[in-house]
Amino acid sequence: MIETIAEAAGAALLEEPAHVPVLCSLENYLAEPDHTMDARIAAARVRLGRQAVILGHHYQRDEVIRFADFTGDSYKLSKIAAETEAKYLIFCGVHFMAESADVLAKPWQQVILPDLNAGCSMADMAEIGQVEDCWDSLQRQGLATSEKGLIPLTYMNSAADIKAFCGERGGLVCTSSNARGAFEWAFARGEKILFLPDQHLGRNTAFAMGIPLHEMVVWDPYQLNGGVSPERLRAARVILWKGHCSVHQRFLPEHVDRIRRDEPGMTVVVHPECRFEVCQKADVLGSTEKIIETIERGGEGSSFAVGTEIHLVNRLAARFAPLGKRVITLDDSGCLCTTMYRISPAHLAWALENLVAGRVVNQIKVSEDTKHWAKVALDRMLEVKR
Ligand code: SF4
Repeated sequence: MIETIAEAAGAALLEEPAHVPVLCSLENYLAEPDHTMDARIAAARVRLGRQAVILGHHYQRDEVIRFADFTGDSYKLSKIAAETEAKYLIFCGVHFMAESADVLAKPWQQVILPDLNAGCSMADMAEIGQVEDCWDSLQRQGLATSEKGLIPLTYMNSAADIKAFCGERGGLVCTSSNARGAFEWAFARGEKILFLPDQHLGRNTAFAMGIPLHEMVVWDPYQLNGGVSPERLRAARVILWKGHCSVHQRFLPEHVDRIRRDEPGMTVVVHPECRFEVCQKADVLGSTEKIIETIERGGEGSSFAVGTEIHLVNRLAARFAPLGKRVITLDDSGCLCTTMYRISPAHLAWALENLVAGRVVNQIKVSEDTKHWAKVALDRMLEVKR
């Protein structure tokens, strides 16, 4: 892939004058068709050389991810980026991912999100003021004292201030790969877990550990006392925040039933951000990396119905078709992460050409205090078994 980009860049460089590109407003870039950005992106990429790395999340659209130096999930990308010597880390993902990259980055590295409107509906469902109110309420009820040992855990898909909140209160961050290890870590230190912001990942993880549903409650930040009675809160072992991924929530148990009926023998693989009822019916439950590994391990002639974002599913289908493996989406309408889709070739070209001209646009910068505690929560994750 790099060779292809370099070739495209070489061609573009020959055609272009030696001076840096003329800077235009983002609107001018957005007015041009996507494909006209390819040579510009490639040329800017070559000019920036090792000063920049482009990070492409698995759910990113094809026209953008093909320029990525690294692809993966958000934690893997943030870690890899911090290990490079690149000054500019261009994150083709969503806002919380760029924040995590900034938390882990070296002090002189700068993180850029090509479109500031690329947010995450799940991360936005837990705002710091709401989480602090919840904690205060639990404290007033005697549930968040150190003796009682309420441990706050947050999924990677949360804002930096939520990660910091957990770090400052003895908790940690987890990914969908190590959520079970994080729960075990927390139960070794406390009686209860407050899990943010994805109720589905929390419920699926706790249930797989043998915690019955009646020992879990859902805290709704828009209701008085989270909408949970003090008795139920006291009895609960896991307090789930009422958040979800608007993409994965669209997969329904009926979709699994349809696959079982119409495509017998097909393996159903879903992400643990899917609803409990869907996960219970699936054959395999796992992170994006586990989904990919599952299909890699399948033999020729195997087939998979996958419950995750459509761009990853489509790429897996194209990659494995020549190996005789069939990959389809679990929901045939295709679940798209519309916020990640906001990062277009025009946004990437705009960010890169500004860097070539010496201007950093859309830098994501986490405050030092937040960074410190978020890093504590992320570092604690390293103590967790996968
Ligand atoms: S797929 Fe869901 S959790 Fe992931 S970035 Fe999109 S909205 Fe957020």
